[in-house]
Amino acid sequence: AKKQGRNGIQTYTHDINTKLTQRLMLRNDLQDAINQEQFSLHYQPLIRHDGTVKGFEALLRWQHPEKGVISPGRFIPIAEQTGQIIALGQWVMARAARDLLALSALLPNNCLISINLSPLQFYRANFLQTLAETLKNTGLPASRLELELTEGVLMNDTEGAITTLHALHNMGVHVAIDDFGTGFSSLSYLRHLPVNTLKIDRSFITHLPENRKDTAVVSGIIGLAHHLDLTVVAEGVETQQQHQALAALDCDVFQGYFFSRPMPFPAVVDWLKSRKSH
Ligand code: C2E
Ligand code: CA
Ligand code: CA
Ligand code: CA
Repeated sequence: AKKQGRNGIQTYTHDINTKLTQRLMLRNDLQDAINQEQFSLHYQPLIRHDGTVKGFEALLRWQHPEKGVISPGRFIPIAEQTGQIIALGQWVMARAARDLLALSALLPNNCLISINLSPLQFYRANFLQTLAETLKNTGLPASRLELELTEGVLMNDTEGAITTLHALHNMGVHVAIDDFGTGFSSLSYLRHLPVNTLKIDRSFITHLPENRKDTAVVSGIIGLAHHLDLTVVAEGVETQQQHQALAALDCDVFQGYFFSRPMPFPAVVDWLKSRKSH
């Protein structure tokens, strides 16, 4: 049981100190990890209504030599604070591009690779130039790349964001708004921004189809997206019931454990081969 009074406060302070120390340690470890290639990418398929593969989302994994696998939810915020996300993001982009190209023989030509972009990367002065160079060096056509940005990114610095988004659009790079619906943002920005895809946050999908209110919200987002000529992705689809409900609501693309967990590269190859042989 928790102790009361002064001891309670001491315990609390102790927890904060432990957290701080852990963060500092992770920060040092991150630098080693970048140098020693402890990172890898897992890929989760995005499946269209008709069962075809729209693409894969690249998800970063850190295999720590002592601590085991550390989830991106823990280390990305630290890498953002320290600026290490720039080097890491650059590595993700190049690795994912090369991996997608290595799968070409097994994939339809229009298959996309989706990459999560930190706001720090997006707002860097040389972002577009670095991106263009990576595409050139890896040989990935711009039209095969989708960048996932959260709503918040697009709201903060609207003018800079609009300029960059138009440049991406002109290059042929796709843009998805990630975690859509969680940002409490005004919807008006959707009319002005050249984006291709809305990804409905998992929190709206979890309680489908029983929850009437969630169903109404999801149905509303899908209708809105279609009126704006955007593709809608539902993330975190875990059950057949959720898939059926979303299909009935005319959702375009599904992603989640029901179809596949994120897989390391060799497992993606097997997954694609076993689908072909069916
Ligand atoms: P996200 O972009 O919203 O990615 C989806 C997360 O949901 C992933 O967690 C994925 O493994 C998980 N997921 C997928 N399907 C299901 C499902 O059916 N049920 C449940 N419960 N979860 C599902 P993950 O891989 O732990 O990544 C967490 C977050 O870390 C990502 O959220 C993204 O914001 C960030 N992240 C991952 N990789 C990168 C990266 O390369 N760069 C940046 N900047 N952020 C990244
Ligand atoms: Ca994402
Ligand atoms: Ca998401
Ligand atoms: Ca998320």
